[in-house]
Amino acid sequence: MKQASARRSIPSVDKVMRRLGSSPLPRPILVGVVRDELSKIRDSGGIVPDFDEIIDGVRRELNRLNRSRLQPVINGTGIVLHTNLGRAPLGSEAAAAVHAIALEYSNLELNLDEGTRGGRSDYLERCVAEICRSEGAAVVNNCAAALVLILRTLTLDRKEVIISRGELVQIGGGFRVPEILESSGATLREVGTTNLTTTEDYRRAIGERTGLILKVHRSNFFMDGFVGAPTTRDLAELASSHGLPFVEDLGSGAILSGTDDRDACAGEPTAAQIIGDGADLVCFSGDKLFGAAQAGLIAGRVDLIHRLKNDPLFRAFRCGKMVIAALQSVTEGYLSGTGPAVDLIPTHRMLKQTRDQLHERARSLVDRIKSAGFTKVTVADGASRVGGGSVPKASIPTQTIDLELSQTRLGSFARLLRESTPPLIGYIDEGRFRIDLRTVFPAQDEWLPDLIIRALESVGAIGGRHSTKAEETDHGPSL
Ligand SMILES: *Cc1c(COP(=O)(O)O)cnc(C)c1O
Repeated sequence: MKQASARRSIPSVDKVMRRLGSSPLPRPILVGVVRDELSKIRDSGGIVPDFDEIIDGVRRELNRLNRSRLQPVINGTGIVLHTNLGRAPLGSEAAAAVHAIALEYSNLELNLDEGTRGGRSDYLERCVAEICRSEGAAVVNNCAAALVLILRTLTLDRKEVIISRGELVQIGGGFRVPEILESSGATLREVGTTNLTTTEDYRRAIGERTGLILKVHRSNFFMDGFVGAPTTRDLAELASSHGLPFVEDLGSGAILSGTDDRDACAGEPTAAQIIGDGADLVCFSGDKLFGAAQAGLIAGRVDLIHRLKNDPLFRAFRCGKMVIAALQSVTEGYLSGTGPAVDLIPTHRMLKQTRDQLHERARSLVDRIKSAGFTKVTVADGASRVGGGSVPKASIPTQTIDLELSQTRLGSFARLLRESTPPLIGYIDEGRFRIDLRTVFPAQDEWLPDLIIRALESVGAIGGRHSTKAEETDHGPSL
């Protein structure tokens, strides 16, 4: 009896929809959220909340959903290739190339000379091979796919892949080298120890079942002390003396060797160096140091490339035209000379910024925040990182904007900035909220103080000159 009356007071979907008014989310999504919320109330069997409370609950859920839409954010973490923030941003030239190909038809698989079917990425492959100074190249969806394809194709008859125990690592979320290897049907032949593997270890493991030798670039951590591993050259020689292919997974895909302004990447092997040292195949990501789009680039011996491209999996792993457009633009940029290439690729521009340049920007931003009445904000020294599983050792001196807030305010301040439009992501360190300017595009400096000031007002760290405005804007769209 009691429950029946409770049930009766659950409002109809229509009634809730009418109250919500317009929303940036598509109507079917809206209706779905309302239905879910109402059935949660029904299923709980408890007291039905009053109508306003129900509306608040629905709005919270809609805001959460709205924030989960793919959207631009400001990266104040100082991690240049931040996996959670989409790794490498694309340069405007490359983005324009994508735009042009996306909007119109293209010769994706048409040979314009013959009027017949053409290869999907022949020209791009030629450019990639040129950059890597290799005989041939191929492109697939990402570096993980490249690795699976390589292993599968090269271990069809002889299943064993020899790899050092020091390289059986996890690279970022969901990428464990041993699991990737096994998913390709290969069997692992682990050699050496975590910290030390010798050429002799590899040599002893070679047998009838050996398909290839693999070296994986240890990209997201670094070991110091009593460590050692054979060089690319050693392994390439060993493999070739046994008629085996030697493959190196480079991961980050440095193209420019680390000199002057790219000290952060100094010592990062470039694909061309590794090919020059005798690797039969290399693979690397398109959206790490390479600075293009998500893709796996493969370069090396033309006979092996040919085998990869004839594997049915290659069709499943191939790139779309927009990715090819981005890769083509960035690759041509590299080939047109290192100077302009560096400037066209945002990742390299960011890595190149000097502490002095960043200091200037930081000072003027701090002044603007101070003028809103918040004084505990300073320019500080910090350390940026390359990230994305690249150059784990490198820490780049940088300038941060540090805001000192009480422990209780820090968390909500960070959350408010994440929920602002656009979201601003910084980090908390020793009781301060820090924004590293290296990864903030200079054009975004214009927005930054306002976002910060509004969040400071919302947590009550400054009295609100614009506090009513903050109420409206800090919680996503008004629904
Ligand atoms: C990042 C990385 C990968 C995975 O690359 P995706 O393009 O994300 O698939 C593979 N190997 C190494 C060494 C890496 O650093």
